Amino acid sequence: MSGPSNFPLFGVFMILSLIIASCTPAAMTETGSTSTAVIAADAATQPPVQIDSLPKPTIAPFRFFLPTPGSEPVSGWRPPLYPVPWAVSAYDHFYFARPIAADNVNWPLAEYRYGGVFFAPNIIHTGVDIDADEGTPILAAGSGTVISADWGLYTEVPGNISDPYGQAVVLRHDFGYKGQSLYTVYAHMSKIIAVIGQHMEAGDVLGLIGDTGATTGPHLHFEVRLGANTFYSTYNPELWMAPPQGWGVLVGRLTDEDGKLMNQFLVEVRPMPSEVPLRKVLTYGEGAANSDRYYQENLALSDLPAGLYKIMFKYKDKDLQFWVDIYPGQITYFTFTDKDGFKVAPPPVPTLDFLPGTATPISTP
Ligand SMILES: [Zn+2]
Repeated sequence: MSGPSNFPLFGVFMILSLIIASCTPAAMTETGSTSTAVIAADAATQPPVQIDSLPKPTIAPFRFFLPTPGSEPVSGWRPPLYPVPWAVSAYDHFYFARPIAADNVNWPLAEYRYGGVFFAPNIIHTGVDIDADEGTPILAAGSGTVISADWGLYTEVPGNISDPYGQAVVLRHDFGYKGQSLYTVYAHMSKIIAVIGQHMEAGDVLGLIGDTGATTGPHLHFEVRLGANTFYSTYNPELWMAPPQGWGVLVGRLTDEDGKLMNQFLVEVRPMPSEVPLRKVLTYGEGAANSDRYYQENLALSDLPAGLYKIMFKYKDKDLQFWVDIYPGQITYFTFTDKDGFKVAPPPVPTLDFLPGTATPISTP
């Protein structure tokens, strides 16, 4: 009932051009375990780089600049998920179950959502983190084939125990989306149970929760990759995991006066009225964080009980607010533009099929 762990969780991350040492003193030292792995650039695996042109990594002591996120409504229970695949609109794709069973917290940690910049200015979080105790089973989020089950996912060096993902499993799913392959990544395992080539059904155990790789405490780092099994191909898992029944998902696209995605803006989401605590979420919009090809979003907040919510944030020294309804099993989509403010309406229907990297920003009248 205490909510997210009180030690910082270092998720798997990606850096623009090098792997930064992100070691901290091992905050959690299990008896007999080694300290947190140090990640360092491996000269043999890294392309030559101009040192002067690189951002200066912040190494130690690690300092977190978290926007004092609101506590997640931890009730210890949520309704069962909608059956997967779940898609109310033609552009929804809640294809995955949760990779942690329902008898544990199985929703993303509020402090470490997708697209966040938590570790250093150039480190984007490319997945969500789910809090769980060491040894908790990690489940396949959908049926698929194990294509990777080892250390070394990031560095592409099998057996590399200094890889930031630690021991990780990648599934290539039996199903894709819009003709493209879908992958899910499960990182920081204490033990890998899946074997390369093995076919898994949703719910099969892939491994156990651990704190291997760039982490100071046990948790699952979960990614959804579309089109390719690479760090650049991730999308927000909160748009891919089926919501609990009766609950919905808030998705937003917030742009500034130049039409650019507002990045790392703190947005507050308050239920009206409700016992459920305030939520806080950060926008994303650059680096390794990708927006959904249809929604072109830079904000996604899953697991909201249906109801009326007030959305609030500060923009150009003004406190802005508006209200939205969250509907069961659905995405509520809004836009904010400098010129027109808030609008609640789904994006226009695309006239061409989706292609990676070619989606055009939504033009607002
Ligand atoms: Zn993570």
